[in-house]
Amino acid sequence: MNHLIGGISSAGRALPDLDGQRFLVGRSQGPYLWDTRGTRYLDTAMSFGATMLGHAPQAVVEAVNGAFSKMPMPSFAHEAEELAAVALAECTGPLSRVVFVNSGSEAVHLACRAARAATGRTRIAKFAAGYDGWYDQLAFGNVSSSEAGMDAGARPEKDGMLLLRYNDFQDIERLFAECPDIAAVLIEPVLANAGCLEPAQGYLRAVADCAHRHGAVVILDEVLMGFRLHAGLCGHLYGVDADLATVGKAIGSGTVVAAVVGKPEIMDVFENRRANRAGTYSGNPPACAAVLATLGQLRAQDYPALLAAGNAFRERLARIFHDAGLPFSTTGFGSVFTPWASDEPPSTYLAAFARASKEWTLSLHLALRRAGIMTMPFAFGRLYLTFAHDETALDELEAGFVKAVRTLAT
Ligand code: PLP
Repeated sequence: MNHLIGGISSAGRALPDLDGQRFLVGRSQGPYLWDTRGTRYLDTAMSFGATMLGHAPQAVVEAVNGAFSKMPMPSFAHEAEELAAVALAECTGPLSRVVFVNSGSEAVHLACRAARAATGRTRIAKFAAGYDGWYDQLAFGNVSSSEAGMDAGARPEKDGMLLLRYNDFQDIERLFAECPDIAAVLIEPVLANAGCLEPAQGYLRAVADCAHRHGAVVILDEVLMGFRLHAGLCGHLYGVDADLATVGKAIGSGTVVAAVVGKPEIMDVFENRRANRAGTYSGNPPACAAVLATLGQLRAQDYPALLAAGNAFRERLARIFHDAGLPFSTTGFGSVFTPWASDEPPSTYLAAFARASKEWTLSLHLALRRAGIMTMPFAFGRLYLTFAHDETALDELEAGFVKAVRTLAT
């Protein structure tokens, strides 16, 4: 009897069997995973991006263990929560007020609640093909939904969620002309879940200007990109003036934690009880200890070096495929990128849909797994490189790709 549905609790964790064998992770450390039979794999799925420091970074493990043995979950305020909030706010500029929660989906849900309470409006505009979590309203239009590839001129709406076209400067102006009563525009600064597509020059600023002109709040969904390009918000690198942002994943190195950060005048809604925040586990000591230890480590890391090494590695990958006579390209950054089975990478999310291939990603995954490399097995899957992917790991990764591509080419 299969008590655990499909053997997993999150659909994203599904993996095909290989040679009739199920893959179960036994342990993880640095850039590596070991299965329950003791076979070692170089990992590029890296907890869906939930670590920039590799698996089980020692300082974070010690901080979490220490916090859990001291006080796993008090019912009252505790020091680590305050310290973690200060550490996070030091990295997020004017978004200086913090609420900790337990997942990225919960953070996006809470940010929308804050925006609604601050504006007195209910509708939220989000982006087709973005991924802002799996909660009912927020899943609308996401990368695996039928609305994501919406027709030109269409404006799908469901449960107060309206869809926008990413990188379309006119679309946001049209939306506010049609619907001036929008509480917030929710945007992934980089459309990371739909091919790591970058914003066009000036686009994020144009979105924020338009939203602000119409009295709406700008929420950056930084659950995936936050702390991935530098020790702070990705949107700030593009000069966007956001009011709220959600962070998760990288801030906790794999612990269960996420947060909403925001400008004081918006986050005030929680202070004056116009909006509620709750959660038995929100801001628990081990999570806060993880944030504190992680941010301390991230602020000391050389992000430009990681991004440069990762970009050079993307070129090495393209060479491997091209030498084997196979088309290949990537979109994204040195620390997170999407592979494509075409020499010309897509530049829009609609082109990304047209190019994304379940079959190709799966066959690449299986060939790499045989060569000791783990990747995400589904279309739009990303490869994550972290500070634990040193030169040795990258050389090993390259050797694994050489082996795998050889089998794909025959
Ligand atoms: N927002 C973005 C941009 C994400 O990439 C994700 C998860 O991948 C989420 C929200 C949801 O976060 P979680 O899976 O922690 O609920």
